[in-house]
Amino acid sequence: MSTIEAPHRAKADRPLQTPARVEAQALYADRQKVYPKRVFGKVRSVKWAVLMLCLALYYVVPWLRWDRGAGLPDQAVLVDMTNARLFFFWIEIWPQEIYFLTGALILGAFALFAVSSLFGRLWCGFTCPQTVWTDLFMFVERWIQGDRNARMKLDQGPRNANWWTRKALTHAVWVVIAAATGGAWIMYFNDAPTITRQFFTGEAGVTVYFFFALFAGFTYLLAGWAREQVCTYMCPWPRFQAAMLDENSLVVTYRDWRGEPRGKAKADNVGDCVDCYACVHVCPTGIDIRDGQQLECIGCGLCVDACDSVMGKLGRPKGLVAFETLKNLSASAAATAGMAPGLERQTAGMAARELPRFIRPRTIMYAGALTAVALAMLLAFLLRSTLDVTVLRDRAPLYVRLSDGGIRNGYTVRIVNKRREDTPLVLALRAPEGFRLDVQDADHDAEGRPLLARRADGISQYRVLVTVPPGQRLPESTPITFRLLEPGGQLATSQSSTFQAPRR
Ligand code: SF4
Ligand code: SF4
Repeated sequence: MSTIEAPHRAKADRPLQTPARVEAQALYADRQKVYPKRVFGKVRSVKWAVLMLCLALYYVVPWLRWDRGAGLPDQAVLVDMTNARLFFFWIEIWPQEIYFLTGALILGAFALFAVSSLFGRLWCGFTCPQTVWTDLFMFVERWIQGDRNARMKLDQGPRNANWWTRKALTHAVWVVIAAATGGAWIMYFNDAPTITRQFFTGEAGVTVYFFFALFAGFTYLLAGWAREQVCTYMCPWPRFQAAMLDENSLVVTYRDWRGEPRGKAKADNVGDCVDCYACVHVCPTGIDIRDGQQLECIGCGLCVDACDSVMGKLGRPKGLVAFETLKNLSASAAATAGMAPGLERQTAGMAARELPRFIRPRTIMYAGALTAVALAMLLAFLLRSTLDVTVLRDRAPLYVRLSDGGIRNGYTVRIVNKRREDTPLVLALRAPEGFRLDVQDADHDAEGRPLLARRADGISQYRVLVTVPPGQRLPESTPITFRLLEPGGQLATSQSSTFQAPRR
């Protein structure tokens, strides 16, 4: 395979570009392995906290219980494929209400747009599953193989017992984490305690083992092997998130107006960057933030911690690499143009900054859309009916002429009852005089009206015939309404339809 230098790859990790290599550069790039260094700091602490919260939620949620009464699953969050239901604590979503899921996805998308426009790639750097699991896998790798230098030395050294032991141990722990991840995934679709027992006793279905293997395999592959390549080459989000950012978005930046020209700490007339590469060595995607905004930067902010630590040791103000707006970066650069490095330039640059503007047309638009979708969903949820009826009129034939000259139309009436009660409903017809209603396989009440049994928490279906006696003059289409009445006579729900007759 040919070799090519990945764009913006940190110089320290780059292979030597011999003429032969340059000649061989083509369309494909060999991956240059990244060896992120351990880092301490505020951002890292926040990242650990978010990571633990995300993992805890993912692994623990399937085990939460929620009492819904007899005969119903007591798992708080469950996608019940067998009964086509989605349970989320007290909320139960039916297949007919899939629009709630669509709404939730739209809500998530607008939330992501809003967060990106305010804080750049906060999602990518802190909460994206790829970031969370890769971070966890890197932690294991560091724990078993050592920090950056030790891992580089191990990889460059001989394949001896030490190498095999550390590598085997690392992969073994990765496989255990991947298996736990795949295992947790199948619990969202099955009762967690039951499927766990069935899984280990071999009683679970083939589908369960298939999806377990699929998720475990992809976790191991993406977090253990592919890592930053997922963000750089596979994920579409970095490609279009630029549309959400503007000069007021907070992004991880290198304050070049302060850092340049780079030089040794004790050299004269140099900026604050001592070219130590600490920011590069901690970067999980292996880039140099000093090269400017890059597609590969996931905004994790670990380079902020690394540089702050260096500045702290040198006794210089922190924030050479920081979460900053591009507007402030330009303002500071303009205010310090031509100034010699030093405290005066630092003060002038910082004084030129202004507080990030969180309220601006773009964020107002995203917040407005977010609120509108949230309100629409809330309204739809509050107004959702627990009893629905659908009426499907026969299409072939549209009508049947009876031997006595009467006209008959056939209908399928489907009752979706989301309640636990199963008292029968009376079916009545609102139609012109003379229309007669018959329901196949139905009981009748004392007044002779058809009684439709409604299945508790289920769907019932009936074949209904509407007949008009001979001699009645009818238009081609007559509006009629099927009404479902509670035993007490109150209207439970209704559905309009038409009665079709031959053209006169
Ligand atoms: S450049 Fe900094 S913020 Fe961007 S991915 Fe690397 S360490 Fe994270
Ligand atoms: S960590 Fe700071 S001082 Fe060191 S190279 Fe990066 S920007 Fe320069």
